[in-house]
Amino acid sequence: VKSIETTRVVIVGAGMSGLCMAMMLRQQGINDFLMLEKSGDVGGTWYENRYPGSQCDVQSHLYAFSFAPNPNWSRRYAGSGEIQGYLKDLTEQFGLPDKLRLNTRVTSARFDETNKHWVVLTSEGQEIHAQALALSQAPLHTAKWPDIDGIETFAGRRMHTALWPADASFAGKRAGVIGNGASAVQLIPPVAEQAGHLTVFQRSANWVLPRGDRAFSAWERKLLAVSPIAKAYRWWLAGLYESNRLGFVPDSFAGRLGRKRALSHLAKRVADPELRTRLTPDYPVGCKRILVTDEYYPTLQKDHVTLETRGIKRIEPTGVRLTDDTLVELDDLICATGFDITGSVASVEISGLGGQLLADSQRDKPQAMHGMTVPGFPNLFLLLGPNTATGHTSTLLYIEAQVSYIIQCLAELDRRGQKAMTVSPDVFRAHNADLQARLKQSVWGASCTSWYKTDDGHNGTIYPGFTPQYRAAVKRPDFTQFDFL
Ligand SMILES: Cc1cc2nc3c(=O)[nH]c(=O)nc-3n(C[C@H](O)[C@H](O)[C@H](O)COP(=O)(O)OP(=O)(O)OC[C@H]3O[C@@H](n4cnc5c(N)ncnc54)[C@H](O)[C@@H]3O)c2cc1C
Repeated sequence: VKSIETTRVVIVGAGMSGLCMAMMLRQQGINDFLMLEKSGDVGGTWYENRYPGSQCDVQSHLYAFSFAPNPNWSRRYAGSGEIQGYLKDLTEQFGLPDKLRLNTRVTSARFDETNKHWVVLTSEGQEIHAQALALSQAPLHTAKWPDIDGIETFAGRRMHTALWPADASFAGKRAGVIGNGASAVQLIPPVAEQAGHLTVFQRSANWVLPRGDRAFSAWERKLLAVSPIAKAYRWWLAGLYESNRLGFVPDSFAGRLGRKRALSHLAKRVADPELRTRLTPDYPVGCKRILVTDEYYPTLQKDHVTLETRGIKRIEPTGVRLTDDTLVELDDLICATGFDITGSVASVEISGLGGQLLADSQRDKPQAMHGMTVPGFPNLFLLLGPNTATGHTSTLLYIEAQVSYIIQCLAELDRRGQKAMTVSPDVFRAHNADLQARLKQSVWGASCTSWYKTDDGHNGTIYPGFTPQYRAAVKRPDFTQFDFL
């Protein structure tokens, strides 16, 4: 250890969650915190996912902090560079550079039961003592490679959407894309523009809705700089996105309407009935993440693009061997295969009361109270923790509500003159049993495999309700649910 220092809150990660925590602490006049980020810059998701076509899927005016609107979004769905630029600007505006340590990975954190504080160790040899630890490592962070035999033998270029090389060019190349989820459908059209031939390997079809992206005109941007108009627009967007949630109610009118919209989008965009059949999912709308794109279907119909649904047997040095033994020869293999959902938490050794490890409690069944607290881990707060993702709206609506909850917890500790609080195990168990029961009866209980669930069907990802329900549940912490130490 090179140095020992003390602060009130350590924030792990400077993505949208960590930055939100830092900005809201500043707003409350709490300046005693440090933000540790392992990358060379802020932005998290938006720093890392720099593949061509990378954009948000929720319109930018809702995918921005309520307290830091941005009238200058260039289009409805901003690209990753623009979103990261917005986050960098906020870092400056809120005076965060002083609080931020880049290229600093948190390697472990241990709750010191005698002094009732966290002891955080970093890759730079620092030891930091902090009353509270805010973990914003996010489930969508650790790139996941496909679990296919022979993948490491591929002799060409192997890439992952979340680990994108700065100089990737596909001119004249034979490229293949494994995965056809949210990142894949953004990446496939721009890669097809360049590639000599593109093969899209599809395991199962996804529901696709139209996107309707477009640039904002100069006068629209002027209008959106007027605060009441910007607020009204954000409210309207939040309502619009929340109404999509109605479609996730099994056998509902809205669910049937969503299905009809997706089928009519497919019918309009894909003329060939055989291709249409291959692109029609066999599970209810919403069970897996719905994709929002206008370019994906037209791209699949280009002469130099093939949709391959025969299934992959293994990967070989020269390409992909299909289940019927055909070899698809490739120069570049792009994996748009998402993230290891529990991998981020497991990447840091976090030990709580009695030396128990957070990773052990989350490995098979990721769960937390309101997605934030776990019994046995005093003053540890997860941001965007288990069961706080949605398939229909902006995660920022959840992040802001969580940060406000955490700040109220810190204030309560001060008010009581106590050092630490930990959620009671009974409350935690009852809360999670209720969540899982609700999820089983929802569209996510239907039989489809998705990154929302672990192999044994536990859904530690999705919040089963409507956003206002979550926000109401966490608006004022119920302190009777905690043990104070
Ligand atoms: C391609 C893509 C598109 C998306 N589009 C949308 C969208 O349209 N709308 C929406 O609501 N959500 C979207 N999401 C979800 C998105 O991840 C969240 O909205 C949000 O950006 C998450 O922010 P975060 O800060 O919680 O996590 P991240 O952005 O992942 O940030 C976590 C940070 O923690 C750092 N970190 C991790 N471990 C350590 C460690 N040990 N020490 C120090 N630092 C560490 C990482 O380097 C990273 O910077 C998208 C996700 C992806 C991948």
